[in-house]
Amino acid sequence: MPIDAKTRLVLLLGDPVAHSRSPLIHNAAFRHQGVRMVYVAARVAREDLAAAVAGLRALGVAGANVTIPHKRAVAPMMDTLSPEAEAVGAVNTIVCRREAGAVRLHGDNTDVAGFLAPLRPYADRLRGAPMTVLGAGGAARAVVYALLTTFAPARLTVVARDPAKASRLLEAFAAHDAGGALRAVAWAGAKEAVRTSRLLVNATPVGMRPDATRTPWPHLAGFGPGQLVYDLVYTPETTRLLREAAARGATTLGGLDMLVGQAAAAYTQWTRRPFPDAVARAALRADTASEDAA
Ligand code: NAP
Repeated sequence: MPIDAKTRLVLLLGDPVAHSRSPLIHNAAFRHQGVRMVYVAARVAREDLAAAVAGLRALGVAGANVTIPHKRAVAPMMDTLSPEAEAVGAVNTIVCRREAGAVRLHGDNTDVAGFLAPLRPYADRLRGAPMTVLGAGGAARAVVYALLTTFAPARLTVVARDPAKASRLLEAFAAHDAGGALRAVAWAGAKEAVRTSRLLVNATPVGMRPDATRTPWPHLAGFGPGQLVYDLVYTPETTRLLREAAARGATTLGGLDMLVGQAAAAYTQWTRRPFPDAVARAALRADTASEDAA
């Protein structure tokens, strides 16, 4: 499909964006389905975010993704928000709709759907179970919302190093925590919560390349059979956390499935087509192989 005068733009707004896999995923999908769109990553400084969002309207782009550090700041700039974006307080996907001559921006948070997609086969095991999330940042907020509203956990422990951030998170999700499952602990006091959790999620960047020898949870006694350990980090595909958890008998999930899941949920809103999952994964694998070889 040539890039011509009918080609529409989809943008990624973030800083940094140079290492994002999203252009690779979406452009492979557009090419495969003959969609007249092209996905480009734009590095946008914090002070330029409002101008960039005004630019989305002025240029009539099809949509955008939003990444660190803008996911929260962009939410009040939207005309409408999905229930997920509203609850999480962050937008990672913008859909631009032309209505009565004006462009309206709809903000969604597809990290919620992306995070949940690989957990679906384990739903019976997770319903009403004790769970722990490491980290209290943007991804942790999407994870906490997804877990509370989908599995009604018996206990959901957030492990945070900043108590003020942790209590803001608890406050933000109190309305979705009818059972009083949510609590926060410091890292030093989290061993019992992790050991007794049926699901452990790493929502910190610890273990991500180039620091792939690190792990957020070096206490191996915390892992065991019957436990599911889910690392949102996807570079490398199998992190030290996942290797060590698997060696102790835990079931493991890497961040690549979430990455593909959130991309799929955005893609279908921009194009109104089903996402070509296998094509996106093949493009990612080819890219990872060339990165590993470099
Ligand atoms: P973020 O908003 O910066 O939050 C990171 C969280 O990790 C914060 O709570 C931070 O603590 C904590 N943290 C950072 N370094 C730590 C350390 N050394 N020890 C303990 N805690 C530490 O980032 P994010 O957007 O939530 O992303 C977190 C990770 O998830 C990243 O690796 C990102 O790539 C990954 N992610 C993956 C997907 C996917 O599709 N697979 C989607 C979204 C995010 P403070 O609050 O004290 O700073």
